[in-house]
Amino acid sequence: MRQTKIVATMGPATAEQPVLAGIVEAGVDVVRLNLSHGSAEDHRRNAANLRRSADDADRLVGLLCDLQGPKIRVEGFREGPVQLEAGAPFYLDPALDPQAGTVEGVGVAYQGLPGDVAPGDTLLLADGLIRLRVEGIEGTRIHTRVEIGGVLSERKGINRLGGGLSVRALTDKDRKDIELAAELEADYLAVSFPRDAHDIEEARERLRAAGGDAGIVAKIERREALDALPEIMDAADAVMIARGDLAVEIGYAELPGVQKRIMRLARQRDCVVITATQMMQSMVTSPVPTRAEVLDVANAVIDGTDAVMLSDETAVGQYPVATVKAMAEVCIGAENSVDTPSTPPSTALDSPLHRIDETIAKTAIVAANRLSVAAIAALTESGSTVMWMSRIGTGIPIYALSEQPRTRTRVTLFRGVLPVSFDPTVRDQGVVDGEVVERLREMHALEAGELVMITKGDLAGVRGGTNAMKIVSA
Ligand code: PEP
Repeated sequence: MRQTKIVATMGPATAEQPVLAGIVEAGVDVVRLNLSHGSAEDHRRNAANLRRSADDADRLVGLLCDLQGPKIRVEGFREGPVQLEAGAPFYLDPALDPQAGTVEGVGVAYQGLPGDVAPGDTLLLADGLIRLRVEGIEGTRIHTRVEIGGVLSERKGINRLGGGLSVRALTDKDRKDIELAAELEADYLAVSFPRDAHDIEEARERLRAAGGDAGIVAKIERREALDALPEIMDAADAVMIARGDLAVEIGYAELPGVQKRIMRLARQRDCVVITATQMMQSMVTSPVPTRAEVLDVANAVIDGTDAVMLSDETAVGQYPVATVKAMAEVCIGAENSVDTPSTPPSTALDSPLHRIDETIAKTAIVAANRLSVAAIAALTESGSTVMWMSRIGTGIPIYALSEQPRTRTRVTLFRGVLPVSFDPTVRDQGVVDGEVVERLREMHALEAGELVMITKGDLAGVRGGTNAMKIVSA
């Protein structure tokens, strides 16, 4: 069994059969719809096709809707892309006609940019390929000098080295897309470029108002978010280490340390973590990963990530199914490697315990790790018990037994957790234990004589009701 989950971005390369069925069968656990691209109709069709493929394969696959967020972009050019030469002047001006860009300057979609930058700032265009130094601001016009040149085409992103652009996290388009995510019954909603916990809370409130109950994923891709990590993690259900934009903003040399810090802190604060971007990038055009990519995925697994994510590789790549298979193999290899501790680095148990269900969940894993238990079965309504269990880390499979379909698809993101359909209500406690054993034996998760640890509540079917653990012999 693979413990680390795989998130794959759906795009033109995976929207149609048989490729969609191929990535589902190859082991994708959560599919990301990137709302930066495509129409609402495309996303409705993609979500429906995904669910059909998952049903056909008899697999549970979660759905993550990823908001575009306030990415600041240059506008268009009069005569197509321009070549910027090092040393040349170049201006950015939100007042310029959106299609009037030339080799001398270009429009910007964000009106507030001239107020957010100062002489001496470094602006990075096109994911950091082009570097401009701000020399002065005159009205709405930002005068810069090209430090590193390159080809600039329309709609390329702008970041400031060190962060600090004050644009708000939720745009008008995001507000509409939150309604779409609710309509699609997404399991997760990813908020792009949040600055603080307030941005996460606002997204959650809007989603609830629209009738959605998705978990909120905070994409960590701004310098400001790094300063507010504890609050963001407490407000969100998961964080995504969005290494694409984050590396542009903080510089790539800082990225490894930051990735490890986010992962450590997330485990401490009971937050789920997705490691994202360029994990298997060469597989966009190659059927095998580079050794460096194998090590990148494996290191994230060893450091305790819940999930690893594919972007271009499955959205537009030439080998989406092979990429998912390769990623799954690398995850299993890393999980089984002699250097991987059976308990990934975790400080979750060093923190005080606040709740009865949390106490049962975390101590059950500690006990299971020391006793020879073949499986852990958590009777869970909301999925919180298995989330806490998976913070501690164990090589023992954690089965999330729930009658709630939404809970079963939500736990697809948690490391080491497998959803199982199970109705615990209206039965005597002893009968339930027997049925848990029966269900796991049917799934070949348990053999006669093996031990299973069961966590449950006195009152079955109640959220937050877990108050007991029991060890049963099959
Ligand atoms: C990233 O920047 O790494 C990221 C995951 O965001 P997106 O793919 O939306 O640019």
